[in-house]
Amino acid sequence: MIVVLKLGVAQEIVDKLARRIEEMGLKAHVIVGTERTVIAAIGEKRNGEQQTLESYEEVDKVIPILAPYKVASLEIKSEPTIVRVRDLVIGGGHVGVIGGPCSVESEEQIMQVAVQIKAAGATGLRGGAFKPRTSPYSFQGMKEEGLKLLAAAGEMTGLATVTEVMTPGHVDLVTKYADVLQIGARNMQNYHLLQAVGEVDKPVLLKRGPSATIDEFLLAAEYILDQGNSQVILCERGIRTFESHTRFTLPLATIPYLQSRTHLPIVADPSHGTGIASLVPPMSVAAVAVGADGLLLEVHPDPPKAISDGAQSLTPEQFVDTMVRCRKVADVLERTLG
Ligand code: PEP
Ligand code: MN
Repeated sequence: MIVVLKLGVAQEIVDKLARRIEEMGLKAHVIVGTERTVIAAIGEKRNGEQQTLESYEEVDKVIPILAPYKVASLEIKSEPTIVRVRDLVIGGGHVGVIGGPCSVESEEQIMQVAVQIKAAGATGLRGGAFKPRTSPYSFQGMKEEGLKLLAAAGEMTGLATVTEVMTPGHVDLVTKYADVLQIGARNMQNYHLLQAVGEVDKPVLLKRGPSATIDEFLLAAEYILDQGNSQVILCERGIRTFESHTRFTLPLATIPYLQSRTHLPIVADPSHGTGIASLVPPMSVAAVAVGADGLLLEVHPDPPKAISDGAQSLTPEQFVDTMVRCRKVADVLERTLG
């Protein structure tokens, strides 16, 4: 339920009502909007709660939330959620661009690419240190050493770092080094992992599972939000279809559709979405055109030599060109990009 408070209710009353909601066995999420404060009262439906809450003088009305996801829903919060880390801003008219290699491979590689994408206007640096690979025999990432190199490249350039965390046992370690925790597509329904990153005070970039429906995607985000972490960025990275010419199928309609359902920002990942470097620039432009709040792009100083995902990685020069093209579209739409 959404407990809509009257205008100008004092903070102590908001806290008192939130405590009362918790005593009823529900979870209270206080959402302060520019106009009003609402409290989302989340939990299993029982009888009588709506009337009880409506009886408080400070409560304007109590509205049931119809969507299966609650805190992620636009019904609760109509203003867009904006995630800010260092100079990376995602949402609310800002198109945040995160570039970098699939995997951190060496100090030279990550430093070089960080400097190059920064010069092209990116504000986020990606790089996997723990890699979810289809085959157990493929490179599994540089692990903590990779996290250190990524953090050092972030420090040197001021770029916000984004890297994947694969298991609840690594959440503390990855949180120590990275600015944004990525949940990979394969882990979108790893509920214990979602809950673990929900307890962290850092943004989470949640990738859509290749066969997840939009409701399942939003319910996965809900697991994170439900633990109190409100900084969730959704990422459309392509789904599995019968088509085999591209690695995945990148459904860009997901972006405006999600924007009609949730206040959370949505970034597009045309690198994994297509698997083919030449398709990444046009799909990036298209993603910005349909209103993406950000882009996640794989960039490697020398793609043919990349240990993972070289075929879909842009060269630094291609990245510069992609930025120029995307910025033109962003300008027309009166959005900032970078
Ligand atoms: C990645 O970002 O390198 C990655 C492994 O992505 P996904 O989880 O979308 O496959
Ligand atoms: Mn990759």
